[in-house]
Amino acid sequence: MFETNGSDETIGVGREIAKLLTPPKFLILRGDLGAGKTTLVKGIAEGLNAAEAEEVTSPTFTLIHEYEGQFPESGHETPVKLYHLDLYRVDAERQLEALGLDELAGPDSIVLVEWGEKFPSVVKRSDGEIVVKSAGGDARRITVNLR
Ligand code: ADP
Ligand code: MG
Repeated sequence: MFETNGSDETIGVGREIAKLLTPPKFLILRGDLGAGKTTLVKGIAEGLNAAEAEEVTSPTFTLIHEYEGQFPESGHETPVKLYHLDLYRVDAERQLEALGLDELAGPDSIVLVEWGEKFPSVVKRSDGEIVVKSAGGDARRITVNLR
């Protein structure tokens, strides 16, 4: 469990969590609106040296953000694709299918899905979850549960 106080610290935790996410990974990002899920993804993208890491913002309107980076693995770096999705505004199973999750989840992929818990099919295929909980003010508790 990580505790942060402010978005800068959450980005720092994201950089640490990136080291734990050996591809392939498909994770649900759970937490209330404004908890800091998107902020955490920014840190994870930085930790993977992902291109466009500076441009990670809430994907609520664009649905899928893709980044290319490297996973630091025992001394050498392997290419990784990071996909960040937000299903907050996705309600129908049909809309979900249109996103083509199956095609994203390749052997070199890390897929992080905000609001994935809305869909049993997404929960079923996930490798675990990252939970961001508010703990009053700017305090947050972040846990990584890999199955
Ligand atoms: P989510 O994606 O969970 O809806 P965002 O990451 O988009 O949340 O927004 C989190 C908001 O909370 C930002 O405005 C950020 O500045 C603020 N914030 C305050 N404290 C923290 C913290 N410890 N970690 C992350 N964000 C924080
Ligand atoms: Mg978000």
